[in-house]
Amino acid sequence: MKQNADHRPYWDPELETQSRAEWETMKLELLKKHLAHAYANSPWYRQSFAAAGVHPDDVKTLDDLRRFPTIDKATLRERQQALPLLGDVAAVPEEEVVYVSSSSGSTGVPTVSPFTQGDFDDWMDYEARQFWSSGLRPEDRYCHSLNFSLFIGGPCVLGAQKIGALSIHAGTVPSERLLTMLQNFQATAMWTTPSYAWYLGETAIREGIDPKTDLAVKRIFVAGEPGGSIPETRARIEELWGADVYDYYGLSDIFGSCAGMCEEKNGLHWAEDHIHVEVVDPETGEHVKPGERGEMVLTTLKKRARPLIRFRTGDIVSFTEEPCACGRTSQRLMGVHGRLDDMLLIRGVNIFPSDVEAIIRKDRDFTGEYRLIVDRPDHLDRLTVEAERVHGFNGTDEELKKRLKDHIKAVTGVGAQISILDADTLPRATHKAKRVEDKRGEVWTA
Ligand SMILES: [Zn+2]
Repeated sequence: MKQNADHRPYWDPELETQSRAEWETMKLELLKKHLAHAYANSPWYRQSFAAAGVHPDDVKTLDDLRRFPTIDKATLRERQQALPLLGDVAAVPEEEVVYVSSSSGSTGVPTVSPFTQGDFDDWMDYEARQFWSSGLRPEDRYCHSLNFSLFIGGPCVLGAQKIGALSIHAGTVPSERLLTMLQNFQATAMWTTPSYAWYLGETAIREGIDPKTDLAVKRIFVAGEPGGSIPETRARIEELWGADVYDYYGLSDIFGSCAGMCEEKNGLHWAEDHIHVEVVDPETGEHVKPGERGEMVLTTLKKRARPLIRFRTGDIVSFTEEPCACGRTSQRLMGVHGRLDDMLLIRGVNIFPSDVEAIIRKDRDFTGEYRLIVDRPDHLDRLTVEAERVHGFNGTDEELKKRLKDHIKAVTGVGAQISILDADTLPRATHKAKRVEDKRGEVWTA
């Protein structure tokens, strides 16, 4: 539903302000249909439901979903590798798929997230609704400064177009060029990562451009790092730009945005009509009390191409169902407090230490021992990879550095600093080695 240029507060008033009871009823109906679709059309779910002794017809309440088995990223990856391209978790034939996003996996084999046209339209409608709640309007000029290359965040720009905002598909360009674009277009809104927003603001000042007066940016959407939900970080960026900063949360396996801040900036409104949330104790799998921290487990409610039923995200989160001052009644994500696994977020890009390990272990000029150090000089994430050259290596450290840097960039998309060490320099642990040192400090929101 597209709305004309006006200042009504909601994109879809009836949906966004319905009572909690109405949300629950709506979700139960959607869930029943979605489970039936998954069971009928995905060989994986048919098999895994049967193995767990559950059937979609068993579901009479939302809580009945707890009896269903969970699924995780490793399973998605395995099933796609077993049956390329889409795997048998998918529930439609490839002819119905119009879009895939992709992220690199631990073996370097990409994991794809498929969408039918209907899935894509649903995503963009949610995206428009969410942008509207953050104050984006048809008269805005919106600069989308996120990666477009297979990245789930790329198409979010179409949500701004759906609102009617003039949308500038900037992508990831050098800072000087982006600043020129912001200046020439007098863009009023943009989307980037929090650390890049900070860096870009400081770069502008160094170049004699005052973001507050020389640029017209009044709203900055951020995602990909926890900073957008840390009030101190947000305040610093807002001060630098003279703009409001709104945090968004996305997941490559579902939508580019699954949640985003309204103008109250108090938690992120969840795409509740598209994704059902459970928050569980990661050890026991039991639901935690409302408002408590736990692992976020997600179930899509409409996404036909690849339903995700009880997908374990590995994100430690908390939610609230308290009404928001904006009048919207959807659940709000109150923060991503940490991650269960060791996945790193470097400048908004996911990287698994195992990606780097696979590269280093394949190259016989390295001992195979390594360490990853992440820090944040000048507010920008920096990844340093320490690797040991083998005894008796005849070449130069420069060639080793270049080769490793190029491989890491090709597999993960992340540019790393490389430090070559003598063999047997790194500590050898007798049990699980500490291969990652994240020096970015207390980056998670409380
Ligand atoms: Zn709100």
